[in-house]
Amino acid sequence: MAGTKHFTRMNYHVSRGLREIIAPRQTMPNEKWEAIKKIFEGKCAYCGEGPTRKNRGIVADHVVPATEFGEFVEGNVIPACQTCNDSRGNKNWLEFINSKDFPDLQARIEKIEQYLNTHAYSAPTLETALSHEEQDTYNELVEMWAVINDRAKELYNSKRHGPKT
Ligand SMILES: [Zn+2]
Repeated sequence: MAGTKHFTRMNYHVSRGLREIIAPRQTMPNEKWEAIKKIFEGKCAYCGEGPTRKNRGIVADHVVPATEFGEFVEGNVIPACQTCNDSRGNKNWLEFINSKDFPDLQARIEKIEQYLNTHAYSAPTLETALSHEEQDTYNELVEMWAVINDRAKELYNSKRHGPKT
């Protein structure tokens, strides 16, 4: 059993924390986020549904995924229901939406494109954010973390469960 809830969460937080070195802008005033949601009429930009119990509500979907240093800023977040957010994962948004059979697909794509064009955003990259030396250090840290994470999992998986007798 690789990865309990805590391991998964630990890995998520550390990986995300390391990414913040490259992409530090992870906050946006709430009014701004509310304004973005309003552009999409409070509905999921992909499937067009409002928040329901089934789709578990509307969340901020990163257009450039956080794993690729996309930040939580205007021009990089659009409202999506939790179902679409989960289903998209790290896929390119256009590929994702085109793989679905949502109503008024073309109009939705245009709306998203229009929003993205009005708030031009380009995500930082390793190369733009850090010097060569810093990139080496960063990559080293990411690798070190992967080693620590694997070793912690190994120890977890190999340890005796329950009290020793
Ligand atoms: Zn949706």
